[in-house]
Amino acid sequence: MKEDLGGLETKGRSKMSVGVGMSKCVGVASRSLVTRHHSRFLLHSGFSSNSCAMHLNQQVWSTKIGFVRLKKLDVARAMSTFGEDGARKEPSDFDYDLVTIGAGSGGVRAARFAAQYGAKVAICELPFAPISSDEAGGVGGTCVLRGCVPKKLLVYASNFPHDFESSRGFGWSFETEPKHDWKTLITNKNAELNRLTGVYKSLLEKSGVNLIEGRGKIVDAHTVEVKGKKYNAKHILVSVGGRATVPDIPGKEHVITSDEALNLPERPNKICIVGGGYIALEFAGIFNGLGSEVHVFIRQPKVLRGFDEEIRDFIAQQLQAQGIVFHFGESPIAVEKNSSGTFNLVTGAGKEEADLVMFATGRAPNTSNLGLEEAGVKVNKKGAIEVDAFSRTNVDSIWAIGDVTNRVNLTPVALMEGMAMAKTAFGNEPTEPDYSYIASAVFTQPPIGTVGYTEDEAIEKFGDIDVYTSTFRPMKATLSGLPEKTFMKIIVEATGDKVIGMHMCGDETPEILQGFAVAIKAGLTKKQFDTTVGIHPTAAEELVTMRTPTRKIRKKSEQTGARKEEAVSSV
Ligand SMILES: Cc1cc2nc3c(=O)[nH]c(=O)nc-3n(C[C@H](O)[C@H](O)[C@H](O)COP(=O)(O)OP(=O)(O)OC[C@H]3O[C@@H](n4cnc5c(N)ncnc54)[C@H](O)[C@@H]3O)c2cc1C
Repeated sequence: MKEDLGGLETKGRSKMSVGVGMSKCVGVASRSLVTRHHSRFLLHSGFSSNSCAMHLNQQVWSTKIGFVRLKKLDVARAMSTFGEDGARKEPSDFDYDLVTIGAGSGGVRAARFAAQYGAKVAICELPFAPISSDEAGGVGGTCVLRGCVPKKLLVYASNFPHDFESSRGFGWSFETEPKHDWKTLITNKNAELNRLTGVYKSLLEKSGVNLIEGRGKIVDAHTVEVKGKKYNAKHILVSVGGRATVPDIPGKEHVITSDEALNLPERPNKICIVGGGYIALEFAGIFNGLGSEVHVFIRQPKVLRGFDEEIRDFIAQQLQAQGIVFHFGESPIAVEKNSSGTFNLVTGAGKEEADLVMFATGRAPNTSNLGLEEAGVKVNKKGAIEVDAFSRTNVDSIWAIGDVTNRVNLTPVALMEGMAMAKTAFGNEPTEPDYSYIASAVFTQPPIGTVGYTEDEAIEKFGDIDVYTSTFRPMKATLSGLPEKTFMKIIVEATGDKVIGMHMCGDETPEILQGFAVAIKAGLTKKQFDTTVGIHPTAAEELVTMRTPTRKIRKKSEQTGARKEEAVSSV
């Protein structure tokens, strides 16, 4: 391993800075396209054509006056090549090949794979606590302890009342109404989280990764400090994720975020949720399903900015039909605490009193007080670490992945970036994460699934597209009598017949879309969809039987200046 690493460090390194240079720029260019088409999850990383230009300049510069560049790099390296005793440390003298800060989705994946490639790896993580802070976190990170997993468990819990109601039309009756015990739910959920954090620890241990408990801080390009002890490493990986933010308004100390919402001692009878993104809507569904009165306050005129427009309208109607009250165009001004223990959410339009006020208005990278500035690592205006297409920062030995880079803030993306980083740095296989056609879901009731371009993005990029839509009453609703509907949409690039977008809202959507995402990523055509025999009777079969476009949009070919739409009667 040491020899391999040495090879990568010398031959591989020069390969990276020269040979891979162009593909870095290509990677950046292609990512900016992806950035646009995944804007719903992206707050732009800030890594732009400037970085590309900078890289090219650097190449020219290093070719012309390579010795100057080498000298500069040598100085930087030398600073970390000598130990505190002043003795020269050869690369093999580093305590570790990799020290990772943050044991969430991305960090654990990168650490394990680096170790599998033979690297000597340590990972540091804050001690466990249900609510994250500068001092508390836990192995597993946001997804496992305060995000995807606990949220989905609560979503499952909140689906039952709907199932109970549906069952009556199928002949079921109950002597007494089912009762829900919030404490049992939270206790069982926490037991599962404890199990999972244990699983993650054991995965690290089995991979030979040394887990260090405590807050990691970068001291220099090759040194991380945890609880006063310094660990030096050939490579440092920053995978510290992000945390919920609350705007600076009077009374902000009274509000909760998703961290607390997942761990409440009791369920609120009434809750005000501020925000129109996926986290706000998922929690609205959870509390509404479990019996709370839910009011959602959104500054925008619509929910889920960045999603397909028809999906945005459809889900808002579905949630309203279930009793969730939306206050569109209302921004929070203050939060007041009443003597009765309730709170008032004050907006430009008035006041709403509730047991709890939750803010789901955004998340920020955990980059403060991490030693980045001292080490010379560049961050953008939003505090996200800037990286190249390989997740390398401007400091050669420091890498960053996951939410802290604010590219596509999803668990599977952090995993992909972690794996790519390990391959690049330790597997002798430079690998760029691939951001095209990332499927994602919103676990509302009914859930949403989406992959590829929205209609507006597709028109912008391709000009000529065919749009297939279908809205129908799912079979189960025929007997349950509940007023639910399913919506499906397929977007096809008209010239090549390639399916470039799929958006759905209805039962089992995330499970269905995961399968179709493979076909769409593989570049299958609408004709190939049409030749696929459906599974009957399912809702998903509709996705291979939509024959007549709802509309054909010909912006490019007709060159009329205006967008021309041709409505076609649907089957
Ligand atoms: C409510 C909610 C629901 C979500 N639902 C989904 C979903 O359904 N699907 C999906 O794909 N994504 C979802 N996400 C997003 C997903 O959780 C994140 O994208 C993912 O966890 C990012 O992984 P990461 O490795 O970048 O960071 P994290 O998982 O956040 O891990 C970072 C780790 O670093 C630790 N840390 C921070 N600072 C330090 C330090 N100085 N020293 C040591 N350790 C430190 C933290 O304690 C944390 O454990 C959700 C997020 C939230 C908040």
